[in-house]
Amino acid sequence: MWSGTFTATSGSARNGLMADWYFTDRRGGTSQGEYESLNLAAHVGDSSESVSANLDAIAATARVSRSALAVIKAEHGANVHAVGADSVAEVPLADGLITTTSELALVALAADCAPVVLADVENQVVGAVHCGWRGVVAGVVPATVEAMVRSGAQPSSISAIVGPAICPSCYAVDPDCGAAVAEVSPTSATRDSAGQWRVDVAAAVMSSLYDLGVFAEQIQECTFTNRELFSYRRSRVTGRQGAVIVMREVGARA
Ligand SMILES: [Zn+2]
Repeated sequence: MWSGTFTATSGSARNGLMADWYFTDRRGGTSQGEYESLNLAAHVGDSSESVSANLDAIAATARVSRSALAVIKAEHGANVHAVGADSVAEVPLADGLITTTSELALVALAADCAPVVLADVENQVVGAVHCGWRGVVAGVVPATVEAMVRSGAQPSSISAIVGPAICPSCYAVDPDCGAAVAEVSPTSATRDSAGQWRVDVAAAVMSSLYDLGVFAEQIQECTFTNRELFSYRRSRVTGRQGAVIVMREVGARA
């Protein structure tokens, strides 16, 4: 697990807020077999009891109630949904979630795709994104930043972290996919010396954030080679790790 805190870019936020973020790995859960052990996805064939226990553990880690976990239901598109305190249970299909509500945890699931967390603490907006190559082509990360701006954020005061994703050495793709990514992010889809297309999803996300003026950092871990992470390309039947972001008052640290 990787974790940290976003604070206001210009020192302490006048509103007294911060945002805690977490990127989970496979460790510390209760799932068995292919899903061992901290699988957070209910749609991949794991037992619902195990997933439920794992989500309870994530809620405890993020210090929110289980009913305050809003989990992305990905569709590999560019839809972004704003979640409020009264709509956590009714999250529609969307690859980006944002909220202006404190103590509400946004969760993006992934296993090779890039999970992303974003926060503008000063203007009280946070976001989470699931972005694979289709998300790069669809523009889900810029769409999420735009949605945050509509809710009061300023790109220059947003910070983002791009989590573990499959690296280009491990991610050979077919020419249609490579060409589609190259069209929106020319440096993120390349052909190697054998002519094989390779896509760097995390790099595409990083460059789109850079282009928007958003400060971003990347957790440089490959899901395919790091066996403590779930990888769909490696295992097909497997779990999903999560990216979590929750805004709270600075004094609320337990
Ligand atoms: Zn790799």
